Amino acid sequence: MNNSKSRLLWERANRVLVGGVNSPVRAFKAVGGNPFFVASGKGPRIRDVDGNELIDYVLSWGPLVLGHAHPHVVEAVRKALERGSSFGIPTEAEVLLAERIIKHFPSIEKVRLVNSGTEATMSAIRLARGYTGRDLVVKVEGCYHGHVDGLLVKAGSGLTTLGVPTSPGIPNAFASCTLTMPFNDLKAAEAIFAAHPEDIAALILEPVAGNIGVVLPEPGYLEGLRELTEKHGTLLIFDEVMTGFRVAMGGAQAKYGIRPDLTTLGKVIGGGLPVGAYGGFAKIMDHLSPVGPVYQAGTLSGNPLATAAGLATLDVLEQPGVFDGIETSLTKLCAELGAIAAKAGIPVYQTQAGSMACLFFHEGPIRNYAEALNSDTECYARFFRTMLENGVYLAPSQFEAMFMSSAHGPAEMDQTLEGAQQAFSRLH
Ligand SMILES: *Cc1c(COP(=O)(O)O)cnc(C)c1O
Repeated sequence: MNNSKSRLLWERANRVLVGGVNSPVRAFKAVGGNPFFVASGKGPRIRDVDGNELIDYVLSWGPLVLGHAHPHVVEAVRKALERGSSFGIPTEAEVLLAERIIKHFPSIEKVRLVNSGTEATMSAIRLARGYTGRDLVVKVEGCYHGHVDGLLVKAGSGLTTLGVPTSPGIPNAFASCTLTMPFNDLKAAEAIFAAHPEDIAALILEPVAGNIGVVLPEPGYLEGLRELTEKHGTLLIFDEVMTGFRVAMGGAQAKYGIRPDLTTLGKVIGGGLPVGAYGGFAKIMDHLSPVGPVYQAGTLSGNPLATAAGLATLDVLEQPGVFDGIETSLTKLCAELGAIAAKAGIPVYQTQAGSMACLFFHEGPIRNYAEALNSDTECYARFFRTMLENGVYLAPSQFEAMFMSSAHGPAEMDQTLEGAQQAFSRLH
C-alpha cells in the first residue's frame, strides 16, 4: 500500500498538532504504524490521500449510519448552508429534530440540543445534580461518556470507595464525587447504594457498553438498575450517544424496554456533523434554564447545518427495511467472520447489537471491562494490519465497536471476508 503522501502529512501534523491528531484514538497507538490521511468518502468506502480505497467499518466512530456523503444528507446540508449557517435564533429544524427524537425514544418528553456527546453527558449530570440536590454520581467501569472531568474516573481501592482520576488535570475533589462499579454486576450496585442511600444524584451508563468493544447487558441487569435508582431517588441516565439509532431506532432503551430518567445522544443524530442532545421526562428537563434554575447554553446549539444532516439521516434510516437491513447484513458478516476464525483455530468472541458489533480475540464470555481487557490485543493489532492491507479499515483498537452502514453491500461483504481469510490464517 503506497502511503507516501500520508507519511509526509503525518510528519507535518506532528509538528503542529499534538501527537499529530485532534483526538487520541486516531493516532493508531494500539495497532502500531501511522494513521493514513483520508481525502474523501463515498458510501461504504473512503479514499486516502495516496489514492488507496478502503472499506470503512469505523464510520467516523459511529455517526455515519448511511455511509459517507449520502446524497440525501449532502443535499439537505447544502440547502441549509445556502439559507445561512447559524443564527442564534430558533429555527424549525431544531423542533423537527427534537420531535423526531421524542418519537423514537420512549422515555424522552423534552430535548436540549448541544454540540457533542461530551457536552450532552456533562449537562445531563449537572441537571441531575440540580434536580436532586445531590453531588455523587455512579458510573460503570469501562463506560465512556466523553472527556467530562468527573467521568474520567476509575475505581478506587474498594467497591464503595470514591473514585480516583484517570487523567492529570482533574481535581481529586471532582473525582471523589464519582463512584464506580463493574458492568453487569447488580450486587456491586446494591452495595454502592447501601453505602450512600440518599446521596447519589445519578447513575450513568451505556446500556450496551460500546467503548470496551461491545458488551451486552445480561438479562435483568438494566431492570435491576432501574429499580434500584427509583428506590433511592437517583436519576438513571442512559448514555445512548453511540447506541441511539444503532442498537435500535429508539436505542437500547427501546430494545430492552427500560425507561431511564435522562438520555444522552450524539453521533447518528448529527449525521456526521457535530451534534449532541439530552432529554428525558419533562418534569426533570424543565429544571433547565430558561424554565428552571440549572444553567446550560450554547452559541451554536441546534445549528442549522447539523440539524439538517441529522434529520436527513433519520429520514432515510426510518424508511421501511433500512435499519433492519443494516442489522441483518452485520449479523451475516459476523457469522461468516466467526466461521473463518473457527476454521483457522483462532478463538474469538463476537457480540452484536443492531448495527454495531465486536470481534474480541478471546474465548469469552465477556461481561465487563476487566474481562474485555483479557483479549489478545497483539493478535487484534496483527489482524487489523492485514485487513488494512486488504483494503478493509476496522477500528484501530480491540476496544472499539465495528459499525455497519446501509451503504455496505455484497461487494464489501465479499472483500471483507476475503481479507479475513488471509488475516486469520496469518495469525498462526
Ligand atoms: C462518543 C461517545 C461520547 C462522546 O461524544 P463526543 O461527541 O465524542 O464528545 C459519549 N458517550 C458515548 C457512549 C460515546 O460513545
